[in-house]
Amino acid sequence: MAGKSVKNNETYADISFINLKKQNKITTFLSITRGCNNMCTFCIVPFTRGRERSRDPYSIIKECKRLYHNGYKEITLLGQNVDSYVWEIVDFSKLLDLIAQEVPFMRIRFSTSNPHDMSDDVLKVISKHTNICKHIHLPVQSGSNKILKLMNRKYTREKYLLLVKKIKDIIPECSISHDIISGFCNENEEDHQDTINLMNEIKYNYGYMFSYSPRPGTYAYRKLKDNVPEHIKKKRLIEIIDLQRNHSFYRMQEHLDKIEEVLIEGISKKNNQYWYGRNTQNLVVVFPKKSLNIGDIAYVKIIDTTSATLIGRHH
Ligand code: SF4
Repeated sequence: MAGKSVKNNETYADISFINLKKQNKITTFLSITRGCNNMCTFCIVPFTRGRERSRDPYSIIKECKRLYHNGYKEITLLGQNVDSYVWEIVDFSKLLDLIAQEVPFMRIRFSTSNPHDMSDDVLKVISKHTNICKHIHLPVQSGSNKILKLMNRKYTREKYLLLVKKIKDIIPECSISHDIISGFCNENEEDHQDTINLMNEIKYNYGYMFSYSPRPGTYAYRKLKDNVPEHIKKKRLIEIIDLQRNHSFYRMQEHLDKIEEVLIEGISKKNNQYWYGRNTQNLVVVFPKKSLNIGDIAYVKIIDTTSATLIGRHH
């Protein structure tokens, strides 16, 4: 999760999609939009995948039902920018509301949200339905207003922080993850410290962190200077990754002694006597196998943590 590199034919958005989780017979993905109308200067998506198109909500619901009847227990709705989904009078909040009602025993996740487009209505719908998971992937990319402007992200640090506050007010148990790019064009030490301070203020649950490398075909590639030396990019990235590790550990501690609902996705790779699953916050939980099966919901008391895993026992 930390410091993944981006190949030439990939986008930053691809990397976090791919790493959300591997597909298995229990959890699956469903695309609800394609393309993107935002023009973030580092991103190739608007050029390779075109303008945003949303998928008909009836076909989405039909597909969700089909997946549920085929045994899937969790679905992640995918789009470059799911919050700008729109089909006639159905926006993303209405779509989420409909899906949550139509497949009430299916867990629902979504990714990715551009902070610029996330509405209060979406937050209210997440809070209203127990089957919508309490996790939001909210890429910030940088904590510096100067860099956000150069990236054409269309929000400021202040607006982003307000949104995070709103999320915590409406959905107090919600986990928040991020994408951060270190060493974007013209980033100086002050800009980097703005990112560090923002991270300290939010203390994200986890994140995907990259050092900037220009993608051919993007605005930044053509018009901006990739002028932060590689060793500085690397140094800043390491600082960001180390800080995130501390914050992840801090956030994991909040789960100690709590009883968490975990969807069992498989057998732990490290110990085949343990199940592996995720709680609603998209955090990995491992706990000793007893009865139960893959695909079951377990109620697990969290007794220990690392920065990446919650360790539990049957409640
Ligand atoms: S919101 Fe920005 S980063 Fe995400 S896909 Fe659209 S242009 Fe790319």
